[in-house]
Amino acid sequence: MEKILIVDDSPIQADFLKSILRGDYDVSIANVAEEGLQCAKDGGFSLVLLDIVMPGMDGFVLLKKLQEEVVTKHTPVILITSLEDEESEERGLTLGAVDYIRKPFREAIVRARVNTHLKLHSYRAQIERQAMVDQLTGVANRRRYDVCCQSKWQDAIRLGAPISLCMFDIDNFKTYNDTFGHPAGDRVLAEVARTVNQLLRRSTDFFARYGGEEFVAILLGDEAKTAFQYVKKIRESVEERNIPHSHQVSKWVTVSVGGVTVCPQSGDSYETYLKIADTMLYDAKRFGRNQVVWSNEHMEQMREK
Ligand code: GH3
Ligand code: MG
Ligand code: MG
Repeated sequence: MEKILIVDDSPIQADFLKSILRGDYDVSIANVAEEGLQCAKDGGFSLVLLDIVMPGMDGFVLLKKLQEEVVTKHTPVILITSLEDEESEERGLTLGAVDYIRKPFREAIVRARVNTHLKLHSYRAQIERQAMVDQLTGVANRRRYDVCCQSKWQDAIRLGAPISLCMFDIDNFKTYNDTFGHPAGDRVLAEVARTVNQLLRRSTDFFARYGGEEFVAILLGDEAKTAFQYVKKIRESVEERNIPHSHQVSKWVTVSVGGVTVCPQSGDSYETYLKIADTMLYDAKRFGRNQVVWSNEHMEQMREK
């Protein structure tokens, strides 16, 4: 059931509004604006119904604050008020409220408007999710990666923690497509992505399709040797899926991986280290594919084979 928050200093008005919506939604009430702000920040609400005239912080100020918070900035706010002047309506809508309802109101109209805004909100959330996911493989797409990589990098700097950047590339994939056809290649891409993704289970792990048959992973907190060993296990588990490849090049579908682990300092550039991961990947290919090649921050290389 979708959650709605009512912020109104009058308990009678708030209870009345709740009674209209209670049957269809999970409705909470805050009778003080500050409490409403806190609630909205904690609560995962899909909609806020906000009174304007309240002692202390009024509805306009609260609306502005909600829009400044990362968690609530996309939560739709409907202003419900007994103010009759059009200036207030203009001000509320200009500030970004999605709708403006005057008291006294007709119950069916409030229900209908709430319904419409919830639908729009959920549609928007769905589109946003889809825009961040790679259609073919179901993992994060390049757009999501572009947003996430810098924030992961900043996390590592702030925490003083090691971060590992690593590039995966399917071996001889052109030959695979040429032998089995593009649709079969698509299925392999999805299978490889699923296999790797399943092994990156920590909440701080990030995995995305970088482009074509290349993927990128970002791991937080492991020293170079630990990350190298773990990624080696992932590499092995792709091989152990035993997806038949064209026998001229190899028996099974495999991946080559290049990675780097570094404790970044402020001012260090993410791109510099991604380039190092890419160079390690190039070496993994050069040394015969189906292997992991890793670098620590002193550019000392670790190899499997
Ligand atoms: P290497 O081991 O050196 O990586 O050889 P490779 O053949 O994998 O590398 P190359 O870069 O020559 O070819 C990559 C191939 O990946 C060519 C391209 O058709 C295929 N590919 C890229 N994206 C997709 C996709 O979405 N679906 C399918 N089926 N193939 C793709
Ligand atoms: Mg490639
Ligand atoms: Mg390849």
